[in-house]
Amino acid sequence: MSQYWSSLVHRLTPYVPGEQPKLPNLVKLNTNENPYPPSPHAVAAMQEELGAAGATLRLYPDPNADRLKDAIVAHFVEFSITPTQVFVGNGSDEVLAHAFMALLKHETPILLPDISYSFYPVYCGLYGVEHVAIPLGENFEVRVDDYARKNGGIVVANPNAPTGLLLPLAEIERLLAANRQSVVVIDEAYIDFGGQVIPTAIALVNRYPNLLVIRTLSKSHSLAGLRVGYAVGNSLLIEALERVKNSFNSYPLDRLAIAGAAAAMADKEHLEKTRLAVMNSRAELTANLEGLGFEVLPSAANFIFTRHAQHDAAQLAAELRQRQIIVRHFKLPRIDQHLRITIGTDAQCQVLVGALREILGQ
Ligand code: PMP
Repeated sequence: MSQYWSSLVHRLTPYVPGEQPKLPNLVKLNTNENPYPPSPHAVAAMQEELGAAGATLRLYPDPNADRLKDAIVAHFVEFSITPTQVFVGNGSDEVLAHAFMALLKHETPILLPDISYSFYPVYCGLYGVEHVAIPLGENFEVRVDDYARKNGGIVVANPNAPTGLLLPLAEIERLLAANRQSVVVIDEAYIDFGGQVIPTAIALVNRYPNLLVIRTLSKSHSLAGLRVGYAVGNSLLIEALERVKNSFNSYPLDRLAIAGAAAAMADKEHLEKTRLAVMNSRAELTANLEGLGFEVLPSAANFIFTRHAQHDAAQLAAELRQRQIIVRHFKLPRIDQHLRITIGTDAQCQVLVGALREILGQ
């Protein structure tokens, strides 16, 4: 608190990101990073951009990141989108922030699931967007019919976080069709882990001018450290985001990020290999945890959401931590007996299962 703070800053409740401990040798399963390295082509493209003397960094990057937008368009060639339908930003968190400001700030409150990515209500606080929390169903499912009411917009993470549950594309379409008067934001941070065929709502953008799909390279492309996210939607929605971006920071992506992200989007083979590896490990980890008596929600993400009827979640997290394994526990209503565990390498998953077996005394 300080007399120098604005009244807005006094009122803010900022987001608290998952811990990034500085300790070596941790089994870090708390922030849904990818356990595999990014595409070697992405790394090479960044090295090339940097050049021997780093001379290119003297110059500002392309404010429109055209090279990256072209790579995103090419990545989704089957959906026939154009560069004017693509927005890029400094992580999907920034893209989301601009969407709240540009498309969701109206007289009428927006609708959010009561359990979802906890940054959404933080943006509401920052930008003065009223929201109504719509309870998830008994099994944590998003019930589309509950969103059939007057609203200034809807934001749904699909798969949802921290549950990992996927809403089928047909349900997303029902949500869009029932809310044509407002913008529906689908946050697809984890969608690439959603199945053999990726069930992305980008397939619907050319039919629904009210749909904005937000994506990130942090998870399936293993580039959380680069900070690149993007949105795909009708060009009028994208124009709104560009207007906010150009009233805030013209150069949200630096030269290395543009080069690395464009190469990562082009390397579909690497994406396919790593996302399948994560999905396979997820199936095996789920089976192993169920064998130890855990209930595991069916996950379409690179994490699982799980509970054990006989063991307190906070206690389990603390005991794992003593063994250098960190997972995420949320002290929130309805989910305080669950743990969110990122899918690591198979070796990391085995260490986790071994530790839990020991803690449970099995
Ligand atoms: N959406 C969801 C649902 C997330 O879990 C995250 C990661 N915390 C993000 C968006 C933001 O990801 P990033 O800013 O790294 O793109």
